[in-house]
Amino acid sequence: MSTKHASVTTIVQVDAEEKEVACDGGGVMGHPLVYLPFGKKNSIVCYYCGKRFQRRSSEASS
Ligand SMILES: [Zn+2]
Repeated sequence: MSTKHASVTTIVQVDAEEKEVACDGGGVMGHPLVYLPFGKKNSIVCYYCGKRFQRRSSEASS
């Protein structure tokens, strides 16, 4: 039996050239604005709201 998770991880796709993203949670789940640098990673998870930011790679990996 498969149960739907009530809270699904939100994945936000951003341009591959983005160096960092700004997240304030958005809406009712808002939190103070934070900037999350990607560094050498292609994805980063906001430590406030758990939202995942994924950099689009120009070269498709699939
Ligand atoms: Zn956030």
